[in-house]
Amino acid sequence: MFEQKFFGGRESAVASYCRSFPAVFERSQGAEIWDEGGRRYLDFLSGAGALNYGHNNADLKEALLGYIAGDGPAMSLDLRTSAKAAFIRVFSENILQPRNLDYSIQFTGPTGANAVEAALKLARKATGRQTVATFTNGFHGMSLGALSVTGNSHHRGGAGTFLSGAARLPFEGYLGDGFDTLAYFEKLLTDPSSGFDCPAAVILECVQGEGGLNVASNDWLQRLQSICRAHGILIIVDDIQAGCGRTGTFFSFEESGIFPDIVTLSKSLSGYGLPFSIVLMRPEIDCWTPGEHNGTFRGNNHAFVTATAAIELFWKSDDFSLAVQALAARVTEHLDAISAAHPSMVLCRKGRGMMQGIACRSPEDAAQITRFAYEDGLIIERAGPQDEVIKVFAPLTISESLLDEGMGILSGAFDRCAKMKACGAA
Ligand SMILES: *Cc1c(COP(=O)(O)O)cnc(C)c1O
Repeated sequence: MFEQKFFGGRESAVASYCRSFPAVFERSQGAEIWDEGGRRYLDFLSGAGALNYGHNNADLKEALLGYIAGDGPAMSLDLRTSAKAAFIRVFSENILQPRNLDYSIQFTGPTGANAVEAALKLARKATGRQTVATFTNGFHGMSLGALSVTGNSHHRGGAGTFLSGAARLPFEGYLGDGFDTLAYFEKLLTDPSSGFDCPAAVILECVQGEGGLNVASNDWLQRLQSICRAHGILIIVDDIQAGCGRTGTFFSFEESGIFPDIVTLSKSLSGYGLPFSIVLMRPEIDCWTPGEHNGTFRGNNHAFVTATAAIELFWKSDDFSLAVQALAARVTEHLDAISAAHPSMVLCRKGRGMMQGIACRSPEDAAQITRFAYEDGLIIERAGPQDEVIKVFAPLTISESLLDEGMGILSGAFDRCAKMKACGAA
């Protein structure tokens, strides 16, 4: 039996998602996951964006099983392997070249946080500057460097030590529609008495995942780029959550036309839920000396194999991208319908592409709605400063019928919450 707090009587109290979704899961396929008792759930959490192609995609599984059956090396530090060569070729031919992106690829340790650490170090080394500017509500991971550029005070508090080297800037819209957050940034940079040291880089998510699905507009991103160029500040786009197709294009910044100096990718990069992270950098700033940012597990060949298969399956043409955009429009319709039905509970719809959600007026409502959804067989999480944003993270490969089924459960959960509140008020 599952114990709510300490799984198996042993698991540390640090575990978190399992508190909201306490089932013991046994099998998963596509957008569906089954618990030990055979109960089926729809998965709109998708490994927090690590399962963009759903669970256990058949083609990826076949590629992985073939590689294992052929005794392909599983781990290889940073030795050269055929699996790594294939990944570099396929990523280059299908992702980088068609988008005119000339990047070198750094294979980091397997977590997103490690890619962020590498990006921060590289930006500092390449510019000789110390601070990195970061944005309100940004989320970049749990290691100390990544945490220093993360906003969330609950996570920051876990550090237990100083988080230094970051300068905080307001994200687009943070101070309301009338406030130009980039004019503020520019003023800080140009006023010799602002007390703001010119940073090595800015790090940002084009759509803030954990921070509440806040979207940076194309115009804002372009202006940010021109300010950064004028001051020799590097742009790091952390595309760990918003990348790999989540916004409807492979990279979240494609529509804006900006060309980041450094990009971090992880979560759905392997396509199969296997740990795998990379840092992309303009070749001119690749100033590392050998082994300067090291790590044992930089050669997860199983992940190289599934990542290669995923790119070949989904990214050889625009078809998948267009299908994701069509699916995203359907999500928008569903969310608009829910919003229209519950104006007293809904503040607004947020996000873009397949990373959309609903900001509730009350965080308690958001919590209650996701609890009701779970009771009805839908796994769906919250984000935002108060966990007030219900975050629809369906797989990008989900069928329209399963998407509609999940959105129906979500809509029903809003109805139940509204009824419950009406009863409470009566
Ligand atoms: C998840 C995430 C990270 C951290 O990745 P981990 O694998 O959890 O270390 C960093 N940045 C963003 C935007 C993320 O969503």
